[in-house]
Amino acid sequence: MQDGSAQQNPLLEQDGLPPFERIQAEHVVPAIKDLIARLETGLTLLEKDARPDWSTLERLTDLGEPLGFAWGVVNHLMGVRNSPELRKAHSEVQGDVVMISMRAAQSEPLYAALSALRNGPAWAALDAAQQRTVDKKILEARLSGMELKGAQRDRFNTIEQELSELETRFGNNVLDATKAWSMELTDKADVAGLPPSVLGMAAQAARGAGKPDATPENGPWRITLDVPSFSAFMRNAHRRDLREKIYRAFIARAASGETDNTPLMEKILALRTEKARLLGFDTFARLSLATKMAPGVDGVEKLLEELLRASRASAEKDLEELRALARKGIPGAPADGNVALWDVEFLSERLREERFNFTEEELRPYFPLPRVLDGLFALAERLFDVKVLRADGQAPVWHKDVMFFLIQDGDGNQIASFYLDPYSRPENKRGGAWADECVARRTLADGKVRLPVAYLACNQSAPVGNQPSLMTFREVETLFHEFGHGLQHMLTTVGYADVSGLRGIEWDAVELPSQFMENWCYHPETLMEMSRHVDTGAQLPKPLFEKLKAARTFRAGSMMLRQIYFARLDLELHHRFQPGPEQTIVDVQRRIAAHTTVLPPLAEDRFLCGFTHIFAGGYAAGYYSYKWAEVLSADAFSAFEEAGLGDPRTVKATGRRFRDTVLALGGSVHPLEVFTTFRGRSPTTEALLRHSGLVTG
Ligand code: ZN
Repeated sequence: MQDGSAQQNPLLEQDGLPPFERIQAEHVVPAIKDLIARLETGLTLLEKDARPDWSTLERLTDLGEPLGFAWGVVNHLMGVRNSPELRKAHSEVQGDVVMISMRAAQSEPLYAALSALRNGPAWAALDAAQQRTVDKKILEARLSGMELKGAQRDRFNTIEQELSELETRFGNNVLDATKAWSMELTDKADVAGLPPSVLGMAAQAARGAGKPDATPENGPWRITLDVPSFSAFMRNAHRRDLREKIYRAFIARAASGETDNTPLMEKILALRTEKARLLGFDTFARLSLATKMAPGVDGVEKLLEELLRASRASAEKDLEELRALARKGIPGAPADGNVALWDVEFLSERLREERFNFTEEELRPYFPLPRVLDGLFALAERLFDVKVLRADGQAPVWHKDVMFFLIQDGDGNQIASFYLDPYSRPENKRGGAWADECVARRTLADGKVRLPVAYLACNQSAPVGNQPSLMTFREVETLFHEFGHGLQHMLTTVGYADVSGLRGIEWDAVELPSQFMENWCYHPETLMEMSRHVDTGAQLPKPLFEKLKAARTFRAGSMMLRQIYFARLDLELHHRFQPGPEQTIVDVQRRIAAHTTVLPPLAEDRFLCGFTHIFAGGYAAGYYSYKWAEVLSADAFSAFEEAGLGDPRTVKATGRRFRDTVLALGGSVHPLEVFTTFRGRSPTTEALLRHSGLVTG
């Protein structure tokens, strides 16, 4: 006989690591409700005597952490051990969690205390990291309308609500328009060129749409505007007229009829500008950049201009190569060499096959996971003087395949730990790869340090039989990428919870350590060390490595130009564009495209109507971040190249500097300052251009 009420809810156990084995969906609602109620009470008390000194922030952190920790565990389980019960429990309390977080972030008394601290006698006694924490909190509150009064505040709130509705509608229109279009093919000649996996996908789509007898071999096949289907067709289908047809459908998505996003785009842009002005910025781009690393619109445009100058000629050359290939008379190509927009992907793919005749599958046997991990950890030791030790069994896990590791510093002291959940589990784990915090580093009131703990998750194939998991090269890069995020979380030396590890880092700077780590996958010694053929023990053959390296810069100019086109257009729309009779959004698109494309878009191109990144996602006046982070990570890696990759001592010294700056400082120092301290100068585009094979002449 067991008395359930005597059992502690495991989500309320907050000392140490989460007891994953005991946490069940039924624990979520009672634990989260309990923690919200406690936070509510605590906040009310704190608001009554919030003092204009640092203790207010410490108290706020103490109050928020129990809920933050438990909610973090719940969200983590949503990603790695999902179930209908868990989803239901999650959605039952999610709204309340958002509400209480907003209540804390928008509390008038706390804001008043922070402002008084900012302008009062206690300010000078705070260290730089504390000052930055306070400044960031004040800015965040100001940007959520905290300082607006009366009618302005009302207007601000109305705008926020309207924007959120419009953005949701924009995204839904894109989804609906995507769903509304499809092309059913019944003749084998129509699907010539499509590989078996794509035929399988297309037959499955047909079965889902009321053709139960569809088979990969005999069809019918249903091609849709969903990106995997659309882009596989564009890359492979020999039927040029059908490529044109689907291409034209794609660039007209959500641009007419009931799902027309055109009027929504104008409204969204106008409301964003109005919101920016209410908050004291003259354009939305300036508002967006106020919380980012990039120094300002001019700085970003200058960087994009540099990349444009370096990539344009190369993109033109890429196009010439496609024309030459087409003239060779391959099936599906325009024999006159007159390459159209719907030929580009197709011909690129043929060129790739011609040049680098290796497949991902060929590389797999060379990268068994245990060997790759050994290589990765040896690299971490060489660069950062840390040891990674396997510690399975020392922490409860959510699945038997999850591994647990400890990180020790050079003197053998434990400084962090992490979980690695490497394999794909489509039945209950979400796709993709990610790194997240489980516990953030913090110096506690008694002076003791709470050590950071990270989650790393990938989605590679599980071991089969007694063979270890064999990784594609892309999966190896992904593992390095996530480990880079993990290192920034785990090697932080900051003790203030708001700015330790991954916290408080500007949004356009967070990909620096992750992309930096990816560079090492192309470093011959590092790569050779971690490649061992699973059967023969042989290293990756040199010719394969050379192809791998060459493939990295394949059509790099064209791809860069495309990103610049999107980034420039995004900035132009959010910085200079004024909706009105003189110019439309399409005029702006045409003007930017004239400089940033080598094959101009069709007059009827309305791709912006489907550009959810900037109209329904978080990338508004922020699309440049992709390139920004690449510039930073390549430039950081080039510090190692300059110091000499062959000399272990200089590698170690440079690695130490990277650890003490980029990895240690977290969000406690502005990222530009962090970078400059590491690099001894401001970032430049030189390394990215060189790594991309686009050196300026
Ligand atoms: Zn990342």
